[in-house]
Amino acid sequence: SKEEGRNRYRFFTDEMQESVREALQLEIDLRRAYRQQEFDIYLQPKICMATESVIGAEILIRWPRPDGSFLPPDVFIPKAEEMGLIHDIGEWVFRETCDTIRSWQQQNRIPLDFTFAINISMRQLHTGHLAEDIAAIVKEVGIDPNCLEVEVTESIMMQDPRVTIDALNALHQQKIKISIDDFGTGYSSLSHLRQLPIDAIKIDKSFVQALESDGQADAIVNTIISLGHNLDMRVIAEGIETEANRQALTAAGCDVAQGYFYAKPMCREDFLDYLDRYSAS
Ligand code: C2E
Ligand code: CA
Ligand code: CA
Ligand code: CA
Repeated sequence: SKEEGRNRYRFFTDEMQESVREALQLEIDLRRAYRQQEFDIYLQPKICMATESVIGAEILIRWPRPDGSFLPPDVFIPKAEEMGLIHDIGEWVFRETCDTIRSWQQQNRIPLDFTFAINISMRQLHTGHLAEDIAAIVKEVGIDPNCLEVEVTESIMMQDPRVTIDALNALHQQKIKISIDDFGTGYSSLSHLRQLPIDAIKIDKSFVQALESDGQADAIVNTIISLGHNLDMRVIAEGIETEANRQALTAAGCDVAQGYFYAKPMCREDFLDYLDRYSAS
């Protein structure tokens, strides 16, 4: 009836208003969170599969809510990109990571060749001065840029290859390592891969987790590993959750492992405890 139609219309506009209100609230909260430094960095260990030693960590941003839970970065990072706030947040992550590395090195808490991988988004890569910004922070804090790695998603490469290639080359010239994240999901062309100064590729966790159930995932993982090795890159597997995953990837010749099977992302204090326990066992 006409009455129902009107009600439905009202229902939709209320819902739309609600989602606009929520989106605006997220923007307000994000600006405040940045200003008041509400973010934290968590670390997830990276393990050398051949020696089973911890060789570094991936840095993952965390935004705690008043109730102690975290708003997932998959929710607020795209918003920060849209707002242009990602540059400030990204710089904060870099500075915080570099400060942490320096203090841990000074206290002999980590080996000097430990590598810390930081995620960067396309918007950060495309400013045209990311490498200089990072170089300035690294110099100011006084650490060796060799300790740093950036992870960029494979899909970035397809959007604007020329800009991406220039930006990654500039980072590489600053002695910062580069790995391609979520590899296998982004259809990057092989010729671009060859042109880029890439140190490692990370097999996307969707393939790792399909290993036991899906024969095609097996073929894809093996193909990615030989591709990486043929191009002189290290191959990292993310999202390893089971002993069976670990065995399959070791057998396939994967170099570096990451996932809940080894450890979840941890706050800094827990990460240091983990390293102490790990090296004692
Ligand atoms: P990503 O770079 O692909 O990170 C891997 C995600 O998988 C992380 O989610 C990590 O906590 C999760 N993970 C690790 N091991 C396992 C596992 O064994 N099983 C499963 N199911 N998941 C696992 P998280 O921390 O929620 O981050 C989500 C995404 O947010 C990241 O995906 C990355 O794209 C982005 N992100 C996180 N921190 C930053 C940051 O500082 N800057 C930027 N630009 N993006 C970030
Ligand atoms: Ca990553
Ligand atoms: Ca990933
Ligand atoms: Ca991802």
